[in-house]
Amino acid sequence: MAKKNVNKLSNSVTHDIDQLASSIEQEYLKSKAWKLPGVFSLISFQLSILAILFSVTILLGYWMEVEFLYRPLALEPATHPVTAVIALFLSVSILLPNQPSLLGCLKTALVSVSAITVLVAIIDYVFSTEFLPPNIIFEREQGHVHASALGNYLSINTAIMFLILSCASLAGIYDRKSLQQIIAYVAISIPCISFIGYAYGLASFYSHMSLYTAVIGFLLGWSLLAQTSDYGGFKAILSPYLGGRIARFQSISGMVLPFSVGLFFVSLSNELNSSYIGMFVIFVTWFLVLMISISAYVQEKIDAARREVTEKLIQAANTDPLTGLYNRRQFFYLGKKELRRAHRTGNAVAVLMIDIDNFKTINDTAGHDVGDQVLVAVSNTLTLVLREFDLVCRFGGEEFCVLITDTTKEGVEEVCNKITSTIRSLSINNWTDQHSPVTVSVGACLIEKMIDLESALKVADAAMYQAKNLGKNQTYYSVAFSGAQGSLQ
Ligand code: GH3
Ligand code: MG
Ligand code: MG
Repeated sequence: MAKKNVNKLSNSVTHDIDQLASSIEQEYLKSKAWKLPGVFSLISFQLSILAILFSVTILLGYWMEVEFLYRPLALEPATHPVTAVIALFLSVSILLPNQPSLLGCLKTALVSVSAITVLVAIIDYVFSTEFLPPNIIFEREQGHVHASALGNYLSINTAIMFLILSCASLAGIYDRKSLQQIIAYVAISIPCISFIGYAYGLASFYSHMSLYTAVIGFLLGWSLLAQTSDYGGFKAILSPYLGGRIARFQSISGMVLPFSVGLFFVSLSNELNSSYIGMFVIFVTWFLVLMISISAYVQEKIDAARREVTEKLIQAANTDPLTGLYNRRQFFYLGKKELRRAHRTGNAVAVLMIDIDNFKTINDTAGHDVGDQVLVAVSNTLTLVLREFDLVCRFGGEEFCVLITDTTKEGVEEVCNKITSTIRSLSINNWTDQHSPVTVSVGACLIEKMIDLESALKVADAAMYQAKNLGKNQTYYSVAFSGAQGSLQ
């Protein structure tokens, strides 16, 4: 009765471990197939190209005097040509490599020139100086713009945005990806404020930043952020696991909801209230996404540690601690799968039962630690001699079993000869140098037609005892197929 209960318990534990193992395997496959971070690296490239196109179009607009190419909305701000040049420099720099090469130097130069230019613009704004002449390029066209009384400035919010973008780029150049991510995230908030201004009709929110400039800043910010898709909070948000899925949902709803609710209230309010609503929406959205990123990052770290521990547990449940080979339970789990596959493909498989000869004598004469060394050396030999896809298992004590896939009678013979001869030539301190070589007896069972693994192992075990009876240190071959079992010799 007690034995029956123990069996029942052991079966249920085995079943639980099987289920856990298969869920870990599925998680592993899912994370392997997960492409989002890779997709974002590609998106970074595409966004930079878009930013280049925008900048070049704006400059062409000045050159050809086509106003809507640099002023998207009539009577609203235009993109200053210096802004377009800086945007061009920064977007080209994103496409260049980081390595210490000529292109890498060009990248640093482009980003530095951009940063210095906008810094000068900020100094001009703060101290009312004019180090950066307003008509430094496209003098004639800009004169025309100024004459039209609409004005055209490299505005302070634009300058700050590009300064932050340049800093993010510089962080990337010096391989500080997490810093790049944080700075790029801050930079994106500036065009978002302008977008809210344009969407809610709040001129003070976009000031002199044209819609084109806001779009370029947004593209560049995302392009720099996308380069860090394998780091920090962004990686956590893109994770294939539950935490990532929740964080993605939270981020999107955290942006869409406040924006839509704000838009609704703005339509009902006056200018002053709209400003408050706009500021509130920006604050809530920015804060929410920041919080979500931080919590996703922390959660992902904890989850990664949990996954690692579970994997180690599964590993411990599936392998033999001394040799690292599969244990009996895992051998049956994988072996049965392999037999089903062989049945489908029609390829022959073979099962070997390998027993170390006179192992008790090794233990009794040289001690258990030498016995353990022999076990490890034999298991290493088996792993080395067999192919990656063959299954090797420590069946118990000094017995090993092997499942060889996609093989033939000749293939099995070759493998068995290699196993016996390699083990015979092993050198083990305090044993082979003082006593005799280590030898094994092998029972081989070629499965030509489908039989179950247990039956095949029985045939191999019987063959192994035949090898022992015939004097050990050799292989005895059998063949097994449904309805019949017999000797090959
Ligand atoms: P035969 O040639 O007929 O196979 O004889 P044998 O001595 O190899 O076989 P036997 O079954 O009499 O002895 C196996 C021994 O293996 C008995 C057991 O103490 C020892 N053994 C089992 N597991 C371990 C282990 O993990 N480490 C060591 N050192 N010995 C072990
Ligand atoms: Mg034995
Ligand atoms: Mg033995």
